[in-house]
Amino acid sequence: MKIENFRTSVVPLRRRAANVRRLLSVDAAVFAERPTVPMQCLRPETLAAEARRFTAAFGGIVLYAVKCNPEPAVLHALVGGGVRHFDCASLTEVRLVRRLFPEAGIHFMHPVKSRAAIREAYADHGVRTFVLDSAAELAKIRDETDFAPDLALVVRLALPKGGARLDLSGKFGAAPAEAACLLRAVRSAAAQVGVSFHVGSQCLDPSAYARAVALAGEVVAAAGVDLDIFDVGGGFPASYPDAEPAPLADYFAAIERAVVQLDLPGTCAVWCEPGRALVAAGQSVVVEVLGRRGDFLFINDGVYGALADAGSLNFRYPCRLIRNGRRSDGSGLAAFGLFGPTCDSADRMDGPFLLPADVAEGDWIEIGQLGAYGAVLRTGFNGFDQVLQIEVSDPPLVRTPDEGLEAAAAVCAA
Ligand SMILES: *Cc1c(COP(=O)(O)O)cnc(C)c1O
Repeated sequence: MKIENFRTSVVPLRRRAANVRRLLSVDAAVFAERPTVPMQCLRPETLAAEARRFTAAFGGIVLYAVKCNPEPAVLHALVGGGVRHFDCASLTEVRLVRRLFPEAGIHFMHPVKSRAAIREAYADHGVRTFVLDSAAELAKIRDETDFAPDLALVVRLALPKGGARLDLSGKFGAAPAEAACLLRAVRSAAAQVGVSFHVGSQCLDPSAYARAVALAGEVVAAAGVDLDIFDVGGGFPASYPDAEPAPLADYFAAIERAVVQLDLPGTCAVWCEPGRALVAAGQSVVVEVLGRRGDFLFINDGVYGALADAGSLNFRYPCRLIRNGRRSDGSGLAAFGLFGPTCDSADRMDGPFLLPADVAEGDWIEIGQLGAYGAVLRTGFNGFDQVLQIEVSDPPLVRTPDEGLEAAAAVCAA
């Protein structure tokens, strides 16, 4: 089998793959390539399907949060599934999206931006939406856009800690009273005025959105401004072995019920900024087992690679064994921890990861649901800076709850 379409071995970190358009199955790719570096398996069909599902069900405008996975093939697949707007947080993200999609809506949703980034985003890339959570940032945006009359300025509101796995209000967001002042200041400075918040990533409680919507409504009412944009942020969950979230429809229904109670102007648009929920299922990583010590496996990827969140955050991921030529001894599944390849003792993932009890050195493991905050967090630490990147046709290892199919159990090949 020819393997010329693989992005093979020596790839400097951060170099973007050419858009590989050859859809194999993961197993076929593994047996053809026998990968000795982590093999990132992108699922364009899954990504497009998730984007279609999300954009069809959400009643407003969907901005994909680019930081979650900025791989061009991912962005193309999402656009294929109907995503037309992007939440960018850096100039590099803005430039990337503009280069790929001249027509896309780009929104600069980082509350503390560099002056140079604001200026270039506005002047060269057609960005009109900027987020802020302070008067200083408002002044900066106005300066760097030469007091442009066509800005859409969105005030980010801080939220009390809610039902999410990762809190995102520790660093950004204005307290309610300050947010109300900012909304009034923005109303006299911008063509469009918005409010936004982020309930935290992997939010497992739909009512967290309802509470945040109600709080934002109080702030808007206190400010006494007519709102153009009501942005409910990201945080929508993905499925993991220990987290079977409620269907997205429950989240959207909770948001809609809360928003209709607010008495917003009929022209006010509702936005959201999903990252994880759109792309988690869209990428997996195939790793090689380098050694086994009891119920710990040494593998060639880890917390400095695509598995950062399996480390200190202790995320669990679905996985399945791909045997290197050995027959199964028929034993069942057992729980394993994983060690990454670097010399740092923090490069450890307790999981547990469920795999056949006879897993051995030389086997491969496909680890799923790594499309979100996976490959993008890879570093070159300790020289483990090489990956293969392929596109595959396999379904994800975990089905989304909305499809009502298998539970989030690990699927293991025998
Ligand atoms: C990270 C981030 C998102 C995406 O969050 P998810 O939990 O991945 O949906 C959306 N908006 C902002 C402002 C963010 O920082």
